[in-house]
Amino acid sequence: MKRTVEDLANLKGKVVLLRVDFNVPLDEGGKILDATRIMQSLPTIKYLIEKQAKVVLISHLGRPEGYDIRKSLWPIALILMRLLPTSVYFSNKAIGKEVEERIKHMKNGDVLLLENIRFYEGEASCDMNFAKEIAKLGDVFVNDAFGVAHREHATTYGIARIMPNAIGFLMKKEITALQGAVENPKHPFVVIIGGAKVKGKIKFIMKLLEVADTLIIGGAMAYTFLVASGYSVGQSIIYDDSVEYARDILNIAYSQGKKILLPIDHVCIRENSKKKKPIVVSNLIDDMVAYDIGPKTIKLFKDEINQAKQILWNGPLGKYEDERFIGGTKEIAKAIASSKAYSIVGGGDSVSAIKKIGCENKIDLISTGGGATLKFIENDTLPCIDVIQEKIKL
Ligand code: ADP
Ligand code: MG
Repeated sequence: MKRTVEDLANLKGKVVLLRVDFNVPLDEGGKILDATRIMQSLPTIKYLIEKQAKVVLISHLGRPEGYDIRKSLWPIALILMRLLPTSVYFSNKAIGKEVEERIKHMKNGDVLLLENIRFYEGEASCDMNFAKEIAKLGDVFVNDAFGVAHREHATTYGIARIMPNAIGFLMKKEITALQGAVENPKHPFVVIIGGAKVKGKIKFIMKLLEVADTLIIGGAMAYTFLVASGYSVGQSIIYDDSVEYARDILNIAYSQGKKILLPIDHVCIRENSKKKKPIVVSNLIDDMVAYDIGPKTIKLFKDEINQAKQILWNGPLGKYEDERFIGGTKEIAKAIASSKAYSIVGGGDSVSAIKKIGCENKIDLISTGGGATLKFIENDTLPCIDVIQEKIKL
């Protein structure tokens, strides 16, 4: 068991370097579109304030190359000022004398947000000299950034190697919930996989196949599986290099007596037709490109979802960004939301789809990490969790 923020004694007056994931979606003008990640970081921040620590917040935002004012964390400091009961300050530098000075003048319970850590090249390259510069600022490191725990960066990984450390409440919640779901699932356990990137999800699917009863495959990746099963898919996206893997997955599933469901009808467009109006077909031929699952498939998938005791969903069932092709994803999301099963949704696009549809409040666990969630399920851990000290049994 990893040491958590609650295991840290005598926090009063200590400078805690808290790595959070404030990587929120922004619009063109830099307006925050969704503050979920900020809200989810609050329990750990508030706990540290209560314990009278000096809280130094570290986060990244986007993938800037050097300084970029549109990726500044300043707007997030403004939000925190409204949400937190103590003084919140912002530093436009993350290392150096100036920051050290500011920290020296913090009162117990104050919060200081450092500027986007990815403005520094040493973050993503995990430069240990940079990590040391950051470590110098505080007494203890707490990692609550589950969404980037699969990336070995200076303030997610490097710093944990050189100073006392622990995980925060959000990290603990995600680890416990995902571990429980995979190690101790409730049956029938229905796994729904969609989206793209078949290759990137093979290990993930294999791992879930071991514990799931039913595997439902939709989204762009379904066409690779349909090709592997001998069906024609017209001009729909297929990942040629993954057809063999798809065949392996199907064979393993059948040999283990698992149920696998693939789409039986599709919402598609005829590429060569002038009319770009989608049509529903059962057989994809010629110039047809499928962008969503059809009504028969929705019913097939829903019937399975209704019998589940546990559901894990990753990957939209169609090209949901386009209103014409959101239908399948919407119906399946609603079915998951209204089912009595314990439900988990993970994956960057899946989480934004469920928010767009508006049923995120009816999901038991929305895993905040996109890639991190997949990697955690694949490997039962992540590098930035591994590096945290174990709880010392007294
Ligand atoms: P997640 O981020 O949840 O893991 P992915 O990144 O794997 O999901 O996949 C999401 C993408 O898959 C979306 O951009 C969506 O438009 C696309 N997609 C899903 N189904 C289809 C389809 N039938 N045709 C084209 N694109 C699709
Ligand atoms: Mg994605």
